[in-house]
Amino acid sequence: MGFLANKKALITGVASNRSIAWGVAQAMHREGADLAFTYPSDKLRPRVEKLAAELDSSLLLPLDVGSDDDFEQLPGRLREHWQNVDIVVHSIAFAPQEELKGSYVDNTTRDGFRLSQDISAFSFVALARALRPLLREEAALVTMTYLGSERALPSYNVMGPAKAALESSVRYMAYDLGPQGIRVNAVSAGPIKTLAAAGIGSFRRMLDYNARSAPLQRNVTTEEVGNVAAFLCSDLARGITGEVVHVDSGFHIVGLPGLDAIEE
Ligand code: NAD
Repeated sequence: MGFLANKKALITGVASNRSIAWGVAQAMHREGADLAFTYPSDKLRPRVEKLAAELDSSLLLPLDVGSDDDFEQLPGRLREHWQNVDIVVHSIAFAPQEELKGSYVDNTTRDGFRLSQDISAFSFVALARALRPLLREEAALVTMTYLGSERALPSYNVMGPAKAALESSVRYMAYDLGPQGIRVNAVSAGPIKTLAAAGIGSFRRMLDYNARSAPLQRNVTTEEVGNVAAFLCSDLARGITGEVVHVDSGFHIVGLPGLDAIEE
């Protein structure tokens, strides 16, 4: 029996079989959870539907996190199928592509800043609030973040402050929901080639640098990130909340990379 047997997990953010959310969904399914998925638009529904079917799920709910109406309707739509939810996976981010390159100071617009905070950070607390009436005691929520929240990195730009807000939100949400036994954590994943990552300037070079500089000397996979998210949402992690766990081959602990990683 898997360590998520008898748990119900709502997964957001599956866009393709390369999505981090897909790695999470696979790990949770393997560990025995029942899954429901959200899709952001009618156009993307068939893609999510096809992937969900691979994990024995036909429970699909619309959720564009920019839409207050979708958030309002989400609990009612979910309740038609499930009385409660044990696990909520938030794996959503967006920033306008033209802001993910060049100078942060010169390229950041008011609209781009607002939008990236809204879709990438506010959406997590909005999701928790919408689902709160269905959250079982000892439910667990998890989101995906990146080192660009803590350190300045090339091209990540406006997403850095968005991830910083998201991580801070994890702590406030954990503080708020802890008395009900509900836990909130984040996984800070190393760079992985996904659709969202393709929008970040110089991403290929970031991947190479990461692999050369990290203690494990390689990049991580969605499976590795998924396994940690599954663990964090399981009873095995009952004592962990408000935490940001790095799954990045150890890249974040490095002060100076092995000199082989630096071009002469
Ligand atoms: P992805 O493109 O597969 O997933 C991003 C998801 O965000 C998509 O499913 C997309 O539909 C969804 N989304 C965007 N706007 C939305 C909206 N308005 N409403 C609902 N959904 C919306 O890419 P990914 O890399 O798997 O990204 C998932 C999460 O992981 C993001 O938070 C990302 O910042 C984070 N992350 C990614 C990496 C990486 O290198 N790929 C590293 C660390 C963290």
